[in-house]
Order: sequence, then structure tokens, then C-alpha cells
Amino acid sequence: MDFLPVSLRLTGARVLLVGGGQVATRKARLLIRAGALLSVVAPAINAELEKLLADAGGTWQRGEYSEDCIGEAVLVVAATPSRAVNERVYRDASARRLPVNVVDEPELCTFIFPSIIERSPLTIAVSSGGNSPVLVRLLRRKIEAMVPAAYGRLALFAGRLRGLVKEAIPEESPRRLFWEQTVEGAVGELVLAGKEAQGRALLTEQLRDTSALHRGEVYLLGAGPGDPDLMTFKAQRLLQSADIVLYDRLVAPAIVDMARRDARRIYVGKARADHAVPQDQINQLLLTLASEGKRVVRLKGGDPFIFGRGGEEIELLAENGIPFQVIPGITAASAAACYAGIPLTHRDYARSVRFVAGHLKDGTVDHNWSDFQSESETLVFYMGLVGLPVICEQLQKHGRRSDTPAALVERASTPEQRVITGTLGTMVDIVQREQPHAPTLIIVGEVVRLHETLAWFGQENDHPA
Ligand code: SAH
Repeated sequence: MDFLPVSLRLTGARVLLVGGGQVATRKARLLIRAGALLSVVAPAINAELEKLLADAGGTWQRGEYSEDCIGEAVLVVAATPSRAVNERVYRDASARRLPVNVVDEPELCTFIFPSIIERSPLTIAVSSGGNSPVLVRLLRRKIEAMVPAAYGRLALFAGRLRGLVKEAIPEESPRRLFWEQTVEGAVGELVLAGKEAQGRALLTEQLRDTSALHRGEVYLLGAGPGDPDLMTFKAQRLLQSADIVLYDRLVAPAIVDMARRDARRIYVGKARADHAVPQDQINQLLLTLASEGKRVVRLKGGDPFIFGRGGEEIELLAENGIPFQVIPGITAASAAACYAGIPLTHRDYARSVRFVAGHLKDGTVDHNWSDFQSESETLVFYMGLVGLPVICEQLQKHGRRSDTPAALVERASTPEQRVITGTLGTMVDIVQREQPHAPTLIIVGEVVRLHETLAWFGQENDHPA
């Protein structure tokens, strides 16, 4: 982050604006709207700027800029056509440690003006740190369309009732929940529809019984295979409502970052054979935190109910009557298949697919291998990297041909995705040579043949089969 967005209170503050043309006028309009006491320095100013200053009680110092013009200013903006003048303003202001902005010259700025979507008192700022004004405009248009004009009214309504609600619900976490339900629920709808009195009456009624807000809850969320865009909307929404987030190694940092800034994050990661927090302690922790009335999110890689021990985690909650929800996620097999162009089923190649654990609890790879011999079934091995030699050997021993195509998909759906293809006969040597990074998934079956024609992602990293 090159620039930290903060919101400045400029009411009554002196601001120096150097320049009197169109660009300066735009900035003057903005600064005046924020209540600044504006002083403009320029040899000439346009009529609009002159009127703005007259209406807002600002001043115009006619003439060239000099250091003395800074005076009592707490913020300096330069918008002149002369690079030399702009640079001088930048130097003088930064020498006095004053925040300074030279319009359209990011390297001469200690602060920048974000693009603003205004639904006063609600303001949304968008900035690319000066890198792409076009992208910012595009985003701004999207946000404009997404945020109804009446949201400003909703913000004001909430502002007026803050004190009342705080008194009724002194603890922070249930109060936040109350507000979430209020702005998203019937009260919010009433206010957006302009029926504020009714909204207020309903809110007051809801404040009478807030016992449900003090109940802890656990959400077991599928975070998907790595690409943050593959989370569901529901998972995102619940994640943002969490007081506490428990996550492990497979969950991308960008996803953990979607939690609220003030949410507590607890890493309970499990690297293979290195259990940071033993499973029963995780189960117990979920129970304890929820019993304290917290909203706890347990983020799981992929889908919580596919090799995720999600079932074990909620068993204890169910026994203790703690409310929970399980939200599905895109499992690694789905992501690896789609991103590598290997359909898991296909009318010509595979009529079923089987998800198999590549190694078991005790570290062995023990299966009823003769179940896996059907050529028209795709096999997907999770956690199969270490067991790969055993998997390839056993499959061949139990009826799969040695030239059965196989693919290893490394870090599926991330920018580091790599697909290594071979056959049951060659895969062990290829993988030995290529040294893939975890997590990896192994897909076995005729469908792997489609990879060459259907892959579009990570192709250049492919191992030449
Ligand atoms: N619940 C998870 C699976 C957890 S088991 C899910 O539904 O995806 C962990 C195994 O998942 C890893 O050993 C690996 O085999 C697989 N895996 C998870 N994410 C992966 C990814 N991005 N690419 C390849 N394999 C992945």
C-alpha cells in the first residue's frame, strides 16, 4: 500500500491552493465542500474559481507563488501548468512537513486525492495510488451503481440512534450484530424507502429483546482451493461478520484478509505431520469461543466436508447445542480439473469420479485397490504426493494399465499452478524430477488426455508429456 486512505476533517482549516485554472478549480470545489478555508495563489484565476472563493469566504493572493504564501496552511495543493512552480511548492511544503499534493504528479505528492463516491455522510474513496485513473473511474461507476443514493440517509439514521443502541447493548460484538441485522433487515428497508419514523419505531421494539444477539455461533466456511475469487458470496459475508477467525495452512492469506480488521485471527495450521494445533484442541477451541458468545469462523481449504474433518469439528458443537452453519466451498478436485482443462467426467472417457485420500490417518496408503480398476472411472487423489509410488504401483497391480494417463496438479487455481502429466508407469519418475510444491492433487484416468486440448491456464508451465 503506497498511500493509506484516511479521512481528513478540514472544517475551518487553512488550505493553500496554488494555481487558478480548470484543474485548480476542481480541487477548490472539493476542498470547499469539505469546509476548508481556502487561500488561492495565482497571477490570474478564472471566473468560476473567483465566485467559489467569494461564496465560501476564501481569499485570492494575486501574484506568483513564493514560500511565504504557505502561511498558516495545514495542507498544500499545487495545480499550476509549470513543473518548476509545482516542484517548488512540493519542496517548500514537504520541508515544513506539510501534506502536499501536486495534481497528476504522484511523485510530488505526500498525499493524493482518491476518487470519491459521495452519499454524505457516507463517503467511499477509491484510489490506485496514481497508477491507473481509468481503472479507478471504472470501479467508481460500478460502485455508484451499487450504492443507492439513500444510503446516506441510512448512515444518518444510524448515526442518530447510535447512542440509544449503545445504551441498550453495551457489549461490542452483539451490538455490531444488531446493527448488521438492522441495516440489512426490515429497519434498513424502511429507512431506504424514506419511512424513518417507522424504522425508528421498529428498531426501538427490536431493542426490547436482544437475548438472541448474545448467542455464540460457529460458521464452518469452505474457502475454496486458493484463488480468493472462488469463495462463495455467503462465505464472504459470514467471514466479514466474524469476531474470531481460525484458519489453516491451505487458506490463502488474501482470504484471511477479508475478515474485519479487528477480528482476531488464530492460525491452527496443519502442515503434513506437523500439527500446529491438534484436532481435538481445535474442536474444543471452537466450543469455548462460541460458548463465550463469539461469532467464530472456521475457514477450511476447499470444501469443509471433503477431507476437511469438518464433521469432527461440528460434532462437539452439536452435542453442546451451539448453533453452527457449514458453507460449502469449491473443492480442490473441481478447481484443479477446471483450471487444468481435465473434465472429471466425460461421455466418452469417464462416467464416474471418485475422490480418494492419498494417505490415511496413520500415514499408510491402504485401500481396497480392486475397487479402482474401472477404466471409465476418474480417480482423484487428495494428499497423494508422498504416497504416489504406492498409488501408481497398486493401481497397476489391480487392473489399471501402465499407460493410463495421470496428471499432478500443483497449487491449483493459484498463479503458481503447474500441471505435470504422465502415465501410471512414468509418473513417479517425472514427479521425482519435477519436485512439485504442496498442495498437489493427482488425477488418474482417460480424461487426462483432454488436458492438451482444453487447458488454458498455466499451460506454459506444463511438463511436456
Ligand atoms: N477440504 C479440502 C481438502 C483438504 S485435504 C478440499 O475440499 O479441497 C488437503 C489436500 O487437498 C492436499 O493435500 C491436496 O491434495 C488437496 N488440495 C487442496 N488445495 C489444493 C490446491 N490448490 N491444489 C492442489 N491440491 C489441493
